[in-house]
Amino acid sequence: MPFIKGTIEPDILQAFIAHIRSCPSCYDELETFYAIHHTLDALDSGRDADYHIRDSLQKELEEKEKELVREIRLRRAGRILLVLILISALLLAALIFAPGYIRVFLSFFAGLFSAGGAG
Ligand SMILES: [Zn+2]
Repeated sequence: MPFIKGTIEPDILQAFIAHIRSCPSCYDELETFYAIHHTLDALDSGRDADYHIRDSLQKELEEKEKELVREIRLRRAGRILLVLILISALLLAALIFAPGYIRVFLSFFAGLFSAGGAG
């Protein structure tokens, strides 16, 4: 199971967690696979088996959800930054290449834009 091995794709992970949260039979199945995987893992490495599988799975699901939220926020911030850079680049290009009277007009708006951004 990719989720248990930690190899699940982020886009699929979101839908997976949403389904697991709303489907008791799939949650039970996941819990069973999770318990088997972690017990075998513990046996392999000579550690004591984890007797709090339910809690561990809950914790792991919550951590994955937090990671997803962080990732989505980061992606959104990246997109906003890209748009701001594009606007700045366009404005700069317009300032450089536009004829004189448009340049005066644009620099007025550029002033408003940066004043609004600072305040
Ligand atoms: Zn299901």
